[in-house]
Amino acid sequence: MGQGQCSCGAVRFEFDEPVSGIYMCHCSLCRRSTGTNGIAVMIVANERFRWVRGEDAIAAWTKPGTQWETFFCRTCGSRVPGHNDPARMFVPAGLLEESGDTLKVIHHIFVGSKAPWDVIGDDGAQHAERIGG
Ligand SMILES: [Zn+2]
Ligand SMILES: [Zn+2]
Repeated sequence: MGQGQCSCGAVRFEFDEPVSGIYMCHCSLCRRSTGTNGIAVMIVANERFRWVRGEDAIAAWTKPGTQWETFFCRTCGSRVPGHNDPARMFVPAGLLEESGDTLKVIHHIFVGSKAPWDVIGDDGAQHAERIGG
């Protein structure tokens, strides 16, 4: 369950799936796209996710030669939810307005290529690349 929006509020969404786990990606693409140590996302099934407003305010960029795609607000540049998988939305955890006490990082991916200054301090499982890879 949750709702959130971008920094300027143009893009707003909600979902009714009781998500409790965050996936934190430490890869160089996610680092550049956020300007920090990576990105924390929750995975929500399409049918449990709804745009409240601003779907037309979203821009997307695909890294040439790859399938890697990023979604952001055209006005304020916040990363916003998007499909990296056709059936599911990847929702940046930092957009949530209320996340409660039960939400925590359960998986860290691409730990093998994380920034040297990025120190993981929780007990989420660590994977050198993607899960299962
Ligand atoms: Zn915005
Ligand atoms: Zn990544």
